[in-house]
Amino acid sequence: MDKANKTIYICSAAGDDPGAQINRELVEKNAAALVEAVAAAAKDADEAYIYIPAAYEAAVSAVAEPANAAGVSVVTGEDSPVCRDKTALISAFNGKIIRPYYEEDQETFRGYENVAKVIENAEVVLRKYQGTEDKKLLYISGAVQTPGFVEAAYGASLKDIIAMAGGVKDGSTVKAVLVGGELGTFIAPDALETTVMEKGSDMFTGGIKVLDQTDCAADATKNLMECAKNDSCGKCPLCREGSYQFYTIFNEITNGKGKVSDIALLKDMGETIGLGAFCQFGQHMVKPMLSALDVMGEEIEGHIKRKKCEAGVCKSFMTLAILPDKCTGCEECADVCPEDAIEGKAGYIHMIDNDMCEKCGKCMDVCEEDAIVVVGSVKPKLPKRLTRVGRFR
Ligand code: SF4
Ligand code: SF4
Ligand code: SF4
Repeated sequence: MDKANKTIYICSAAGDDPGAQINRELVEKNAAALVEAVAAAAKDADEAYIYIPAAYEAAVSAVAEPANAAGVSVVTGEDSPVCRDKTALISAFNGKIIRPYYEEDQETFRGYENVAKVIENAEVVLRKYQGTEDKKLLYISGAVQTPGFVEAAYGASLKDIIAMAGGVKDGSTVKAVLVGGELGTFIAPDALETTVMEKGSDMFTGGIKVLDQTDCAADATKNLMECAKNDSCGKCPLCREGSYQFYTIFNEITNGKGKVSDIALLKDMGETIGLGAFCQFGQHMVKPMLSALDVMGEEIEGHIKRKKCEAGVCKSFMTLAILPDKCTGCEECADVCPEDAIEGKAGYIHMIDNDMCEKCGKCMDVCEEDAIVVVGSVKPKLPKRLTRVGRFR
């Protein structure tokens, strides 16, 4: 058939938020129904395909047999959140480097080999077929009683959705909720009731993470920016260089080397890149960073101005101490310290030089007396020179 007259239908299970993997779960658990849904959706197309990331091995084998019987082809390959862009998905489908390209006709995507393509997300196809389009699968993690998958109806508030996961964990105070993972938005605790799941909103990728007092705002944002840096396809400098700079600046902030001017710089760059990046990945990857500054800005600035990590997560801000009344002078900690940061000898209370300590935690792992602790602003009384065990007052 002349390519110009041909239409192919592609159902894509790619582009999941790595922390949620909604399509993976749905394809694994509903393989036969998905194939039926694809066969029905592709009835007017000349060829029907399901594209599944090769890493989703269980999903690939679950779908193989029903697809074969229904004449639907299964194609496996690379994956990235960038694949949410349909042109990037086409590049992955064709075994090329995942990279979006300019496509004049957003209806038929003829740009690649002049073949018209209909592209739909696996959850969308399945739900249309099952008549459950009013619902969405979500994955809730973090400070909730029962992390895992939940199904919620559009219009449900974030507060209701967290309740579906058993509510907030005992003893936790919600600091923020990240909705939409790596390309999502941090929501403030006072907005949980008014934030509702809508089609096309951040919640559409399905990842929800509840942060509490044990999570560090700066560290969480740094990790998200590291994912963005690694996942950016590198095609355009705004996203490629921007994600690298965001990660670098947050890395400095969590290492106690942040500058007051960093906050304004981050906001400025974030807004510019959000408007100018080539595809939705670059436009959205700035959102966690900008919303973190908005919702948890004070805590992030605390790392810069007060040199303090409220959550006690950032190692650079930690001070370790050996409790004199617990240390037996066994020398185990000094033996394992890779930095030579522990002074002591057999039968003497050991001491840590925090300027040399890299906070690797190896000494804490070997101390059978639990004598090595992370201390906050209130420090225990410690010996200033080597003192025999039992002699320190
Ligand atoms: S915005 Fe990022 S992911 Fe999108 S094309 Fe540019 S570099 Fe690639
Ligand atoms: S391992 Fe513990 S008990 Fe032994 S010397 Fe070090 S701090 Fe003291
Ligand atoms: S945390 Fe690591 S570097 Fe620091 S004193 Fe202990 S073993 Fe040495």
